[in-house]
Amino acid sequence: MGEPNDSAAVAAAWAELTATARRTAEEGLVVGTSGNVSVRVGDLVLVTPTGVPYDRLGPDDTVAVDLTGRQVTGTLRPTSELPMHLAVYGGTDARAVVHTHAVHATAVSTLVTELPPVHYMTATLGGPVQVAPYALYGTEELAQNMLRALEGRTGCLLQNHGTITYGTTLSQAYDRTAQLEWMCRLWLAASSVPGRTPSLLSAADLDRAAEQFRGYGQR
Ligand code: 13P
Ligand code: ZN
Repeated sequence: MGEPNDSAAVAAAWAELTATARRTAEEGLVVGTSGNVSVRVGDLVLVTPTGVPYDRLGPDDTVAVDLTGRQVTGTLRPTSELPMHLAVYGGTDARAVVHTHAVHATAVSTLVTELPPVHYMTATLGGPVQVAPYALYGTEELAQNMLRALEGRTGCLLQNHGTITYGTTLSQAYDRTAQLEWMCRLWLAASSVPGRTPSLLSAADLDRAAEQFRGYGQR
């Protein structure tokens, strides 16, 4: 990476990252300093610092690591979940990663090992969302459990912990988290009706939805 284009790209990415992190708190997907966000710029990974409220982060607080996790920019310590973020970049084509403790998603993570496919939006995450078995936050074990649960998917639940999604942009990764949280809320609502069990979509239904999504939206 050469200068000064790269520094402009890093500054723009940092502004977008901090805005995304603030949004997770504003929209109720995390409380306090829970959760973390990262974005790739070339061979750098910009990450939220550990334990810092997102509304305090300004342009001078940029934290960047290389793909091995070595800190190359900033003095604030990177998120404790660096192993998860680096595992996503190492194991997928992700350019951005969002981790939250969204309440309905976390509730679902304590009840099942897979989110039952109650809605066709399941297709936007690559199929029925898996729950990574519990491991202590910040550990390589959690990162490995997460990577297995992400196979063929763009998001998963972390048992008794929260969500993680990725995308090609921060806004796509964020939107996937919001949709995942919404689907978990939907399943909890439907499965809470006494004496009734929600109907589920088949693999063929989800395949057709995935196909239809290829033509979704404006040209
Ligand atoms: P950090 O403040 O270190 O990013 O940790 C928050 C979190 O969600 C850990 O799982
Ligand atoms: Zn967490």
